[in-house]
Amino acid sequence: MNPILSIHNLSISFQNQNKANRVVHNVSFEIMPNQIVGVVGESGSGKSVTSMAIMGLLPKQISKVTGTVLYQKISLLELEANQLRKIVGKEISMIFQEPMTSLNPSLTCGEQVSEVLEIHTQLSTKEIEAEVLQLFEKVKLPRAKKMLNQYPHELSGGQKQRVMIAMAIACKPKLLIADEPTTALDVRVQDEIVLLLKELQQETGMSILFITHDLALIAEIANKVVVMQKGKVVEQGNVEQVFLQPKEIYTKALINAKP
Ligand code: ADP
Ligand code: MG
Repeated sequence: MNPILSIHNLSISFQNQNKANRVVHNVSFEIMPNQIVGVVGESGSGKSVTSMAIMGLLPKQISKVTGTVLYQKISLLELEANQLRKIVGKEISMIFQEPMTSLNPSLTCGEQVSEVLEIHTQLSTKEIEAEVLQLFEKVKLPRAKKMLNQYPHELSGGQKQRVMIAMAIACKPKLLIADEPTTALDVRVQDEIVLLLKELQQETGMSILFITHDLALIAEIANKVVVMQKGKVVEQGNVEQVFLQPKEIYTKALINAKP
């Protein structure tokens, strides 16, 4: 089986006053179909920047990205913006940390998810309406029908994240990139969202790149783990193997730091 995403020697630097500052160094890893890969590392280790680079979201004026990122057989870093947009947001989608995730405050939750389907599919207005309701049920929003007409400020943090997930899976992506999707939520809601993502993965067969600073979440959700430290991958492998027999001092410290 071929990987759904294959990252090879990815390096990223930012340009600051004529000085290049390298923040990600030769990162390589793969995500297979049906796989949940966890990327873990402390704050500032380059997790978000890596995921942004994969999707071509780093502004070219201030950043330099080298290496290869293959989505199936497509070399993402070589694509023009308009070609990339046909993949990112559709076949590869993303959720971020709530409340950093921006739901539009002036649109109802139903309208925001409809918008995604209007942009990316040929469905009729009626079909979209039915599809959005189904999506709200799929992400287990309580009183899904009523939720369609509610505005983001009327929802809890966890409910807003469910709307974001509904948007992210609306076009049946092959890969979902989740960057600290539960970090801003309280522990009980965190667990619910992780469980939901796990269920959605099983149901749809999509792959997930789950980025977090929290090793316990990786143990709960991922099959494979990539450990990052200071912009480098220091260890990667099967979750059980890395947890039971970590090779690197840094990984051992991360594991032991957990209660
Ligand atoms: P993580 O997600 O692991 O917490 P990030 O990927 O956000 O870490 O950041 C990695 C490094 O890149 C940090 O040192 C951060 O300061 C730097 N960085 C991120 N964005 C920019 C930017 N736009 N300009 C300059 N440096 C940046
Ligand atoms: Mg981050």
